[in-house]
Amino acid sequence: MALIVQKYGGTSVGSPERIKAVADLIIKRKRQGHRLLVVVSAMGDTTDDLIKLAKSVSPSPEPREMDMLLATGEQQSIALLAMAINAKGEHAMSMTGPQVGIITDSRHGKARIIGIKPARLRQALGKVGIVIVAGFQGESKGEEITTLGRGGSDLTAVALAASLKADACEFYKDVHGVLTTDPRIVPEARTMPHVTYDEMLEMASLGSQVLNARSVEYAKRYRVPLIVRSSFEDGPQTLITEEEKGMEKVLVRGITYSKSDAKVTVLGVQDQPGVASRLFRALASADLNVDMIVQDVSESGVTNISFTLARGDLAKTLESVKAAASQVGAEDVQADENVGKVSIVGVGMRTHSGVAAAMFEALAQAGINIEMISTSEIKISCVIARDKVEEAVRVLHRRFRLEQASVELGKPFILEAEEPGRVKGSKPAKKPAKVKKTKKRR
Ligand code: ASP
Ligand code: MG
Repeated sequence: MALIVQKYGGTSVGSPERIKAVADLIIKRKRQGHRLLVVVSAMGDTTDDLIKLAKSVSPSPEPREMDMLLATGEQQSIALLAMAINAKGEHAMSMTGPQVGIITDSRHGKARIIGIKPARLRQALGKVGIVIVAGFQGESKGEEITTLGRGGSDLTAVALAASLKADACEFYKDVHGVLTTDPRIVPEARTMPHVTYDEMLEMASLGSQVLNARSVEYAKRYRVPLIVRSSFEDGPQTLITEEEKGMEKVLVRGITYSKSDAKVTVLGVQDQPGVASRLFRALASADLNVDMIVQDVSESGVTNISFTLARGDLAKTLESVKAAASQVGAEDVQADENVGKVSIVGVGMRTHSGVAAAMFEALAQAGINIEMISTSEIKISCVIARDKVEEAVRVLHRRFRLEQASVELGKPFILEAEEPGRVKGSKPAKKPAKVKKTKKRR
């Protein structure tokens, strides 16, 4: 009997009707002969509402009390879902993060999983066959309730799947898997049938909201095959695994974008050792993250350094940068709030040339100016004016013919047809799938 981990997000369980619909999906899967471990988020906007509630009684609630409060959101949805399943004649049981043995460090609001003790969960699974687990929460060694950061339920699902060596981890979302790009911009965007962990990681960090990046890292580390599909209707789905033969045949897998960047340029700094380090040390000390960094070729020993960052951090960043810039004798600091980023991602780039040229040509033909470029083995990102971002996405989607590849219309994933216990196309899990430590944040 296969063990399947499923994860349902907030919108999937956003109302009593939705909870009952999800109960039906779970029961259907159970009756195919599987054991199910189901992780859920809080209903709808519950987490946001709880945050507002806290702010209405205190200007700066203590992180410990915040976790105490936020953890109740998931506790509601697991109990309701278990009740709904039981009312339909199956047997389910709900469990909190602490009850299933998710041990975290003690950083309230952004705790990291440091271990899992799944004995009680195993027992429950043996007894009832459907266990509903609260996502997003755990318990510190000091037995305090902690939460894993926004979107953390995805991580709960992957970590439990790794710890129990589950056969698959299925994410039920309000979209049909992972799409080639945002369908609000390109209506022809289609579901990508198969994506590598690395591509998914790039897309998650470049703006795709489908899966939380930490959970994809975790899945890659423990080789947990991920499936993303809709909880609202049947349709295509996306399988996320390690790279397999043939996957590099697709040049560009997907296009992501962001419209919330800003660009800062430090003008007229000396081109000598120590300048960049002082500028960026100042930002690091203020806990500010930068994205792309570009240093111009210097003319008579003087150069400019530009970088991008999240627009929300611009005010704080300028404060730190201006102080550091005057220390290193820079001429001026300029900021541009109106930039965005468009990126193409695909493992095929590693083995094919001409992808960058094609991207730049397509943007040029549309009259879109590229302000900065950064690349990795499997992605190319361009910083452009924010009001050109959507057009750039459309132009590139067309250029790489992403609307044309054939869609694999998804039946629910069939495990039985394959080697018992493994998902089609995935490699066997690494032996010690016991979760010890989470990877350092990138
Ligand atoms: N309920 C939490 C949040 O809204 C966790 C999650 O949804 O994954 O961030
Ligand atoms: Mg949520």
